[in-house]
Amino acid sequence: MKVMPELNAELCDGCGLCIIACHGGAIITEDDQVRIELSEDCDFCGVCEAVCPQQAITCFYLIVPA
Ligand code: SF4
Ligand code: SF4
Repeated sequence: MKVMPELNAELCDGCGLCIIACHGGAIITEDDQVRIELSEDCDFCGVCEAVCPQQAITCFYLIVPA
């Protein structure tokens, strides 16, 4: 199962930078809350984690044996 980056809602201030930065269309607002939804277009680029000024997003990575 695909694992998406994790967003800590308690740290997020809703600035929207991650939504603008995400090329995968995975970050949305719903009921005034920012959240990351499952997206096949997310390639774990890490940009959402990098742009977040609140350090609210954590990207997890799968280690795949060669
Ligand atoms: S890792 Fe990249 S593609 Fe995936 S949600 Fe974050 S910014 Fe979007
Ligand atoms: S960049 Fe960080 S603080 Fe801003 S909306 Fe995204 S998760 Fe929230």
